Amino acid sequence: MTIAHHPSEELLLDYASGALTESWSLAVATHLALCPECRHEVARMEAVGGGLLDALTPTACSDAAFDAVLARLTDGADAAPITVPRETLHETAGPAPVLPDPLRGYIGADLDGVPWQRLGLGAYQCLVRTEDGVTARLLRIPAGRPVPEHTHRGQELTLVLRGAFSDQTGHYGAGDFQEADEHIKHQPHAAPGEDCICLAITDAPLRFRSLAARLVQPLLGI
Ligand SMILES: [Zn+2]
Repeated sequence: MTIAHHPSEELLLDYASGALTESWSLAVATHLALCPECRHEVARMEAVGGGLLDALTPTACSDAAFDAVLARLTDGADAAPITVPRETLHETAGPAPVLPDPLRGYIGADLDGVPWQRLGLGAYQCLVRTEDGVTARLLRIPAGRPVPEHTHRGQELTLVLRGAFSDQTGHYGAGDFQEADEHIKHQPHAAPGEDCICLAITDAPLRFRSLAARLVQPLLGI
């Protein structure tokens, strides 16, 4: 699998620091299961983060500051951390599943067992149950067709799992990851030959809490 489009360094850093809520984290973790390059990058970020913590000199802080930090930590406490299972990182016998772990664990089946719901115009969706109030869904867009009724508000992550789509920003094949926001106007169009299956995460009032990204960014040179 040749992957041309990867998550941004900011998004990987938010993932590595545990700042993403469940749905965003699921999208990144699923990409990591397919992408050795990004797994390596996340491991590097985790090593830098661990080194930074070790090097910190403890200082006293006010009760108010402590309470504020505690509130932020407990804010996302309901979302279970998502990691890439070890077995997905190694070659195994037989054909690889189309839906890699951890996504396959959420669906409860591989592609042949997905409970699709009809969207119209030949497209289907399957909502992925997450607890963070963000919409996560598998989409199946018929080969050669545009995505129907594609509204675009807020943030959107799209990870292609089979087939391909193109839009004004480029061509996305299996494993490719797209980050879009309301400033990007696009009309994804499935490539001919094979239905496009992708994981799409859309909109949340709280997207990435990038404090960790801003703190570590200069040290990583990104
Ligand atoms: Zn990648």
